[in-house]
Amino acid sequence: MTQIRVDLYSDTVTKPTPGMRQFMCQAEVGNEQEREDPTVNLLVEMVCELTGKEDAIYLPSGTMCNQIAFRVHCSHGDEIIMDETAHPIHSEAGGVAALSGAMIRTVKGNNGIFTADQVEAALRDPCDNHSPRSRAVSIEQTTNFGGGAVWPLQAIQGVCETAHKHGIATHMDGARLFNAVVASGVSAREYAEAFDSVWVDFSKGLGAPVGAVLAGSREFIREAWRFKHQFGGAMRQAGIIAAGCVYALRNHVDRLQDDHDNARLLADGLSSISGIAVEPVETNIVFFDTGGLGITAQEFCDRLLQSGVRMVAVADTRIRAVTHLDVTRDDMAFAVDAARQCAQAS
Ligand SMILES: *Cc1c(COP(=O)(O)O)cnc(C)c1O
Repeated sequence: MTQIRVDLYSDTVTKPTPGMRQFMCQAEVGNEQEREDPTVNLLVEMVCELTGKEDAIYLPSGTMCNQIAFRVHCSHGDEIIMDETAHPIHSEAGGVAALSGAMIRTVKGNNGIFTADQVEAALRDPCDNHSPRSRAVSIEQTTNFGGGAVWPLQAIQGVCETAHKHGIATHMDGARLFNAVVASGVSAREYAEAFDSVWVDFSKGLGAPVGAVLAGSREFIREAWRFKHQFGGAMRQAGIIAAGCVYALRNHVDRLQDDHDNARLLADGLSSISGIAVEPVETNIVFFDTGGLGITAQEFCDRLLQSGVRMVAVADTRIRAVTHLDVTRDDMAFAVDAARQCAQAS
């Protein structure tokens, strides 16, 4: 197999840094499922403070955060409104249907961002017994397949206000919340305020090996604990892994700006290659189209890989590249050169 020199497959490919590993080694631990693990408790407190929520719960993955939140918010036959590109629709193995028995009603947003009017139009008439019951609305900050776009605070407030006016729950999939925070200067607390549930992933740009934290009201988290056990997410000496997340919050938030700068460099470089159309870039995710080169995304990615650069084909001619703490400025130049050669060979 060709050696991968620059891995832009995802921001999940990062390995814990020596400093993070050291910190994890020294973590104080206890029985997490009895809330006796001091490191998990510290992480949970940090996330409560950052998001302004009453309580929070440590989980093995962002997927489990989504699934538990929807399970708490919904019953069988209920409906959740989200953008058509949303992660739970495409990348959680049908979990919403399997675990909550809920339906998803999609709206077509702009780069994954939709409006309060679209929510209003998607809501079911609660008096109509033919319809499913609208129960929750979910947004992604930042949008993943929407291109890493940042939901503006005003758009969030509009969507949440409409949802709450109709008595439905609001959920923020904050897989990349801190990318939004760093890109916009708006705090996590401000972004989280209007949501009943919100979570942060530590295994994406923050660079920890495992874990995500779901936050909400005391009552919401009490319910979430039942499903953490039910779904098999209750752990034991989880402080070992939670320490990576504590370390990430202390050391890896501000540096997300480097990832955004690198994504910008990559996008600018790719834009200069004729036949490649780059989508707008706001954070650490770069999407581009190979249609103008007359080759498929998969062919282009296969060629790139031969040059030691890994990206991922997500549609016929659409490719995704994601920057993270294990790639440098120089790596961007390397990736652009490789892409230029692949384009010229086409
Ligand atoms: C990665 C991701 C998830 C799932 O998180 P995991 O930790 O991989 O389970 C959910 N939503 C979005 C937007 C993501 O990018």
